[in-house]
Amino acid sequence: MWPAADSGIVDAVQKRPAARARSLTKVYGEGDSRVVALAGVDVDFHSGRFTAIMGPSGSGKSTLMHCVAGLDEPTSGEVFLGDAALSGMADNELTALRRDRVGFVFQAFNLLPTLTAWENITLPLDLAGRAPDEELAAAIVAAVGLRDRLHHRPAQLSGGQQQRVACARALITNPDVVFADEPTGALDSKSSADLLELLRASVDEFGRTVVMVTHEPAAAAYADRVLFLADGRLVDELTAPTADGVLDRMKHLERAGV
Ligand code: ADP
Ligand code: MG
Repeated sequence: MWPAADSGIVDAVQKRPAARARSLTKVYGEGDSRVVALAGVDVDFHSGRFTAIMGPSGSGKSTLMHCVAGLDEPTSGEVFLGDAALSGMADNELTALRRDRVGFVFQAFNLLPTLTAWENITLPLDLAGRAPDEELAAAIVAAVGLRDRLHHRPAQLSGGQQQRVACARALITNPDVVFADEPTGALDSKSSADLLELLRASVDEFGRTVVMVTHEPAAAAYADRVLFLADGRLVDELTAPTADGVLDRMKHLERAGV
């Protein structure tokens, strides 16, 4: 389905993380309203892998994702996208890095209502002044299954279709990492499964790196690795997860009160 990648290059690239954080902290507010959202997180997001981040509400999942994606500035610690350190980067450098090397999928889709599906998908390229790679664009449109909906506007699409447009938009720039924050949170179970299969296919068939925040064990089971956050710390991890295995770890976390 996707254009073939050179396996030697894929192997070499997969040896280093697509993104990593070291001693990452994030503190919001001060005095009585001071909240430690991240309390020292070290994490590698391996290239060509699908990682899920789980944890109770308020455990710092979105903050971690936003800091690693360069959407939010950490209080201390380091974030690297590939070999590029985000700290100390000028705003315009960071904006270009986010635009060219990172894709985002949000719970609320965040499509522009006046643009068609196709215009939404290609918007990041337009902003960067790049033309779509036709082979890649065709592969993405086929994968998201929206060939006959490309000229519709978001209001004319179901929630599941809108989220697949958002996913295509995140993939069209060939980003180093796709970050998805509760991407299935507003979808029914069939649309959720379609979206998760699309994210899975982008990793398996196209070598993309996906980091997804979710609170649903069934969604986390699509990942290669699940990281568990509690009170701003990484407290556990599971590889080759099943929904039951994830649910079990969550119960242990809740029982341990971490
Ligand atoms: P999660 O995504 O796991 O639900 P968040 O990363 O959104 O958790 O939030 C972690 C903690 O940081 C929570 O206590 C939350 O209330 C707090 N927090 C998040 N964003 C802000 C903000 N902009 N201002 C103040 N506190 C915030
Ligand atoms: Mg969140």
